[in-house]
Amino acid sequence: MRQRLLVVEDNPINLELVQDILEAHGYEVCSAMTGPEGYALARVLCPDLILMDIQLPGRDGISVTRDLKADPATCHIPVVAVTAFAMEGDRERILEAGCAGYLSKPLDSYSLLAEVAHHLGRNPLTPHPCQEVS
Ligand code: MN
Repeated sequence: MRQRLLVVEDNPINLELVQDILEAHGYEVCSAMTGPEGYALARVLCPDLILMDIQLPGRDGISVTRDLKADPATCHIPVVAVTAFAMEGDRERILEAGCAGYLSKPLDSYSLLAEVAHHLGRNPLTPHPCQEVS
């Protein structure tokens, strides 16, 4: 069964990029573009992993992650934070909220796939069987 990821990202270009990379590696990807939508979808879909942008309209990714971690129905889902700001204290704030990991923008596909695979227990260097070899 394909692993399902939820990507919460309000920038359509970033969202498409992340979605394309993950789908090319055999993941099923669902997406949300606001904090409240991300929270609602996480509860409905129960994905295997969530990539959570921090700056989001409606509610920031830290607040959404805190609520997901406080709920027994969703607290087991690993949340990887994606953030553009590298200010002092951010990493602590993100990990305190319950995020399992942290990726900085701009994202590169290797770091993205390695981080996702790490939390899902998959070898990032093994091509997915569905991936086309050209
Ligand atoms: Mn954003």
